Amino acid sequence: MALYAAAASVLAGVENRQGSIKGLVYSSSFQNVKQLYALVCETQRYSAVLDAVIASAGLLRSEKKLRPHLAKVLVYELLLGKGFRGGGGRWKPLLGRHQARLKAELARLKVHRGVSRNEDLLDVGTKSESVSQVPRFVRVNTLKTCSDDVVDYFKRQGFSYQGRASSLDDLRALKGKHFLLDPLLPELLVFPAQTDLHEHPLYRAGHFILQDKASCLPAMLLAPPPGSHVIDACAAPGNKTSHLAALMKNQGKIFAFDLDAKRLAFMATLLARAGVSCCELAEKDFLAVSPSDPRYRQVHYILLDPSCSGSGMLTRQLEEPGAGTPSKERLCALAGFQQRALCHALSFPSLQRLVYSTCSLCQEENEEVVRDALQQNPGAFRLVPVLPSWPHRGLGTFPGAEHCLRASPETTLTGGFFIAVIERVEVPSSVSQAEALAPDLTPSPAPKRKKRRIGRRKTAGAAPT
Ligand code: SAM
Repeated sequence: MALYAAAASVLAGVENRQGSIKGLVYSSSFQNVKQLYALVCETQRYSAVLDAVIASAGLLRSEKKLRPHLAKVLVYELLLGKGFRGGGGRWKPLLGRHQARLKAELARLKVHRGVSRNEDLLDVGTKSESVSQVPRFVRVNTLKTCSDDVVDYFKRQGFSYQGRASSLDDLRALKGKHFLLDPLLPELLVFPAQTDLHEHPLYRAGHFILQDKASCLPAMLLAPPPGSHVIDACAAPGNKTSHLAALMKNQGKIFAFDLDAKRLAFMATLLARAGVSCCELAEKDFLAVSPSDPRYRQVHYILLDPSCSGSGMLTRQLEEPGAGTPSKERLCALAGFQQRALCHALSFPSLQRLVYSTCSLCQEENEEVVRDALQQNPGAFRLVPVLPSWPHRGLGTFPGAEHCLRASPETTLTGGFFIAVIERVEVPSSVSQAEALAPDLTPSPAPKRKKRRIGRRKTAGAAPT
């Protein structure tokens, strides 16, 4: 096996907790163990830097066949190592096409962190530094007010409004009493990281919600139009539910479920404060909600944000640096539930669009759950390519995984997050669903079935599909 492929395979093994670097290097078939070990260790040391550079250069989006771990090794060699060994083979021309952009992104990162040498990017404080630099996001609650009024209120309080940001760099540069409108999400204001607004009168009155940008994406990408019927499967404490209600202008119905009575009681208070009136709360196991119940006949949209390891949560990353690596047993139990919940959600007969999200960084709770659920429903659903400009994509563990979104303090200036948008594959009106899914089993013409169409609001997130 060639050096770069061997190094990528060791890095993938380490990430999947199959063993230590040393153990995996020794069990690899690559002959020069010393060389392989050194390359893996160096690449791993610069892992966060490489992730940030690769994401902002859009390398994996342009080179769809390039696996993330191999990309990391190659970009290490190109930017931080001694250059490609043995001429670089077929990788040299491939990476060569992106060399200028990758170099520019590395230079930008250094300028941003105020350092001049590559080694200085390795500051042990880097992780917690980038976590603590995540801005304070304020989602304006359009059920009660509008962005202009909230902006005016802050201006009267001595804050200086800078307009809509044009890039993440504008957000990074925020200081003092300045604030901006997010470049991507409408109605999301952005303040410097340390701004504390928990006692703000508009927050207490439900005119805005303190919600991380990544956690605003699920409702925005589900985009249920006013009047629709939606299930929020694991809803408490309800930030995404109130966002859904705002997008729906309180018209239609949200069926919100959660198992935890205390969290539901808290959610009821939050929803009342936010002026949500289209939501029906139920203390119920989502897995026990019957898809054939006539009450859910018109449910075209489901948001599934199940319990997860929380390994991407900012507070955990700051307070418990080891929290990024939950035990294998815990991951297995969580992924088992997530998998069952996703398959259950996909069994609702009228479902057209679903958003699956977690605040976990673990592949087992994210790409693997989505991949398995799609495999269990062959041909019936597909991943929707959303937000083409979003820099951090799903890990390339199966074809199409790059349609998923990831988020992290380093790459998107948010908490760690994962989002997949899944849509039912539309059956041409001349072909019945059964025919489309199992053409071999339905040789005779099936009765024509009318295609179910749902209204779709255009959002900043909805990519042309
Ligand atoms: N979507 C929520 C929000 O934005 O505020 C956060 C949801 S939290 C990540 C996961 C929730 O799932 C927890 O409140 C937990 O009680 C709930 N939960 C766990 N298992 C469940 C089940 N089987 N059915 C319904 N809810 C469940």
